[in-house]
Amino acid sequence: MLRITELTLPLFHADEDLPAAICKRLRISPRDLIKQVIARRAHDARDKTDILLVYSVDVNVKNEDAVLARCRKDRGVQRTPDTRYRFVAQAPADAPRPVVIGAGPCGLFAGLILAQMGYKPIILDRGKVVRERTKDTWGLWRKAVLNPDSNVQFGEGGAGTFSDGKLWSQIKDPRYLGRKVLTEFVKAGAPAEILTEAHPHIGTFRLVTMVESMRETIEALGGEYRFSTRVDGLDIGGGARRVRGLHLQDGGYLEASHVVMAIGHSARDTFAALHEQGVHVEAKPFSIGVRIEHPQSWMDEARFGPCAGNPILGAADYSLSHHCSNGRTVYSFCMCPGGTVVAATSEPGRVVTNGMSQYSRNERNANSGLVVGIDPARDYPGHPLAGIALQRHWESAAYVAGGASYAAPAQKLGDFMAGRASETLGAVVPSYKPGVHLTDLAECLPDFAVTAMREALPVFGRLIPGYDHPDVVLTGVETRTSSPVRFTRGDDFQSLNTAGLFPAGEGAGYAGGILSAAVDGIKVAEAVALSINAAR
Ligand code: FAD
Repeated sequence: MLRITELTLPLFHADEDLPAAICKRLRISPRDLIKQVIARRAHDARDKTDILLVYSVDVNVKNEDAVLARCRKDRGVQRTPDTRYRFVAQAPADAPRPVVIGAGPCGLFAGLILAQMGYKPIILDRGKVVRERTKDTWGLWRKAVLNPDSNVQFGEGGAGTFSDGKLWSQIKDPRYLGRKVLTEFVKAGAPAEILTEAHPHIGTFRLVTMVESMRETIEALGGEYRFSTRVDGLDIGGGARRVRGLHLQDGGYLEASHVVMAIGHSARDTFAALHEQGVHVEAKPFSIGVRIEHPQSWMDEARFGPCAGNPILGAADYSLSHHCSNGRTVYSFCMCPGGTVVAATSEPGRVVTNGMSQYSRNERNANSGLVVGIDPARDYPGHPLAGIALQRHWESAAYVAGGASYAAPAQKLGDFMAGRASETLGAVVPSYKPGVHLTDLAECLPDFAVTAMREALPVFGRLIPGYDHPDVVLTGVETRTSSPVRFTRGDDFQSLNTAGLFPAGEGAGYAGGILSAAVDGIKVAEAVALSINAAR
């Protein structure tokens, strides 16, 4: 089979145009084209009067070798890569049961791959099973009641469960592990289009049922889940600092020689406990800022012009970045077309924003993080956990600025630029639940971030007309953009100084987003399996 990439056709093309374009590109007669399968479809909307669809297509043709030889100067014609996943190990009969802490995308895929290799993992999560967790999460959004162990960050499915479910990543993936992730998601109920769309997403409701389906698969393979089971510390023994077991929140103890630690970026209490126990941890860069909301129709019009609303294009997204004169970079983060801004704190007395959407992406507003990069050397030097203290400081300031009720502080963009508190809303209605409190967001952001955002917004407004309209709403604060720490691991994927501990996923500083966390889960599961087998 051959793969043809960068095959462009107009947005409004007929079905037969695709095989015709294939034959033209390969210089073959239609009779020699046996079969075609779309491998990927993206759109190019740089010229909104001439939006293009960009295909990668796998084709069976007659005389494949001769066709390939004839196209040797066309780098977009190659043999189709073999993207099948191959297991690296099989569990011996007496294998110890590995333990996975965290049932987010990383822990879920670590657990799934271990189970598929026959290792019967035990998966622990401090939060609840996904349906019960959903009620707790909505409890904060609807009634301003926070459950610190069951919320938008914690519980089955992890942080990405109530999200836009964007499933792309810029990680290097020479083994096509992302394909394994997407294939398992489709088996668990995701739409098959995620295998071909360049920027796939699945939205919140589907994620909930997919997570349940994957749990059933893992359990059927001999894996076991324990919810409402928070790990409070490790039992590290012997001169060589080796994990022997886990101390649990209810006073219980679980023997464990191989522990995948996939606890996400918000497990601050666990980070502190591990640091206390001497597990190697370093501060790492992350970003802080606000959520910005525009009417989705403004973004559709700005990006797609006369083609706004076309179902192939869907709701428009964007990606923006600006290097500021104060040395900071402002960029858009986790953009959610047609979605809502959500309350994402896991700690009482703090306010954190993030975004989510449903598969349809048909809510009124587009939202995105508008964030400023920060780093340990400049902004929180001196202690590996200092980034957490900084997050807490601004999240507490946001809680106070929001009226100490879990309402989020919010401001119109025009007022933010002018440095005055907002008193009324304009054309844009904020979507944040349990509500917003109009104020001056400069009270809950560092000065350098305010300066940088004030420089970047007009620049973004020149790129996307309407982006810096004075009525656009900013809601704060966005602090959980990625982990503020890295639990550094060696080539064997184990902690630098604690054998048997496999830090993984976003919390450990090795992923950012659902897909990359899941891919990291696969890699760590493989490392666990190889480590177990090497010790037999
Ligand atoms: P997590 O998903 O954070 O999972 C960690 C798990 O560990 C949690 O279930 C937690 O309960 C558990 N845990 C923590 N501490 C303990 C402990 N001590 N004992 C037992 N269990 C513990 N990414 C995207 O790619 N696309 C998106 O559209 C997207 N939207 C998002 C929207 C929101 C609202 C949020 C919050 C995040 C979003 N993200 C998105 C980011 C994405 O969710 C994360 O990158 C991803 O979930 C990280 O996966 P993880 O498995 O490493 O950690």
